[in-house]
Amino acid sequence: MICPYCNANMEKGYLQSGRPAFWGEKKKKLFFHPDDEGDIAVTKGIWNGSFADAWVCRKCGKMIVDLTIE
Ligand SMILES: [Zn+2]
Repeated sequence: MICPYCNANMEKGYLQSGRPAFWGEKKKKLFFHPDDEGDIAVTKGIWNGSFADAWVCRKCGKMIVDLTIE
């Protein structure tokens, strides 16, 4: 994949964490789980790590992640 910001080649890998990651418009304070008010699950998996396909550009520091929108 070519970086849409600087046109350098991006490297494919995985966004990975020991816990599921999600996107939300506002920062959570206590319960770090996606809710139904527009939050989006980013990584999949709970017990053996949580992953999402991701491309990174080391030149300009951007990451592109495949989201699973259901
Ligand atoms: Zn770039």
